[in-house]
Amino acid sequence: MSSNKTKKDVLLASRKAVETVFINKLFSFGTLYLTAILIIYFIFSTPVRIEFVFIWILITAFNFIHVDYRNNIKIRDLTKINKQLNYIEQLTTALRSSTKTEDVLKLVMKNLTEELGYDRVIIYSLETDEKKKELLKPITAYGIDYNMIKEHIFKLDKALDIIPRVAVERKGYIILNAKDDYRCSQGFVAMLGLQEFTVVPLVTKNTLVGVLFADNIINKRHLEELDLVPLMSFANQVAMTLENAKLYEKVEYLAIRDGLTNVYNHRCFIESLNSEIQRMTRYEKDGIISIIMLDIDNFKHYNDTNGHKAGDSVLVEVGQILKDLTRKVDKVARYGGEEFIIMLPSTQKNGAMMLAERIRQTIENHPFEFAAGQPGGKLTVSLGVSTYPEDGTSEENLVNIADKGLYISKASGRNRVSIARAK
Ligand code: GH3
Ligand code: MG
Ligand code: MG
Repeated sequence: MSSNKTKKDVLLASRKAVETVFINKLFSFGTLYLTAILIIYFIFSTPVRIEFVFIWILITAFNFIHVDYRNNIKIRDLTKINKQLNYIEQLTTALRSSTKTEDVLKLVMKNLTEELGYDRVIIYSLETDEKKKELLKPITAYGIDYNMIKEHIFKLDKALDIIPRVAVERKGYIILNAKDDYRCSQGFVAMLGLQEFTVVPLVTKNTLVGVLFADNIINKRHLEELDLVPLMSFANQVAMTLENAKLYEKVEYLAIRDGLTNVYNHRCFIESLNSEIQRMTRYEKDGIISIIMLDIDNFKHYNDTNGHKAGDSVLVEVGQILKDLTRKVDKVARYGGEEFIIMLPSTQKNGAMMLAERIRQTIENHPFEFAAGQPGGKLTVSLGVSTYPEDGTSEENLVNIADKGLYISKASGRNRVSIARAK
């Protein structure tokens, strides 16, 4: 939306409306003026001619009704314009802060329902799943319980249904009889009790970011092709907001990830461990947390024999194994070159040792390319474990003790898990 242009238009319209009200007021003064002349006429002319009185009553009544009617229309327009101005102001402010995506979308949807007379709105965002397939996921809704629709995801490759069809064709549609329309998935129609509805694509800078659905289930206002025009203007605002939010998320994601392995980076790990320790010190006095540190054995040999690229692939695979073996609450990070570190909240030393051993075995048995060329015929890792608070109450101490354990593993022959005790 070019918000400046819209603002200018609204201001111009607003000024025009004020001028018209002023002209109407002049009309009222005209009636008063005429009345005054007639009164003077009554006083000075005898006998009074009755048809003049009738004409006067008619003119006055007509003028009053007319002025009142026009003023009412203008006042209604002014109120509407004022509301629009407020909305544009709110939207501009909200759009400036990309962190409040949810607020911006809610604002747009509220205005969409109030201004264009829709009862329910759903916004679908274009996402990709693990297999890189494109999906349309409902991300927010207005006038509908979001929990009811949140699992109803549309695949983009099945373009028969109207929702993905709009995304594929990038064209808005109005459906007038959902129950008998072959383009509508009947499960969706039944779930929402759909009759007439409209779906438009969300496109910004030539990129599809999602789809907007809106209907009139309650007020039953009949939809027609013309309704697509104002709806598309709202769709542009939503598209811009979604695009902003996606960019912001991407930047946030990249800032905390290791570029090669996609696990968290060193800085993010240290920050998370520190804040977890602070949280436990303040609110969870008996809190516990364990750390596993691991280093790939003889990795220089692997790189020298098989090349840096093959080495990189091993790092990526190790990162994936660690993610697969840990819980969602655990934090896997690349600590440095071929070293990884894992934070395990609410995990005792025993549990951490068991997990470390499982990681060791899994990597030892994993079919890494060229593993047979490594010393001992397999690619292995050495690990060290430490636990808060018994091994230390600061991030430095905990990492140090885990590192010492790792050193013990290396010194005693590699491919093992060890613990060092804090002195
Ligand atoms: P140790 O068993 O004692 O850990 O022996 P090592 O050879 O693994 O240890 P060393 O510190 O001598 O060598 C680490 C090697 O890790 C050196 C470097 O080639 C490799 N490395 C570090 N970062 C990367 C990376 O990002 N990609 C690749 N391919 N190799 C890396
Ligand atoms: Mg190493
Ligand atoms: Mg190392």
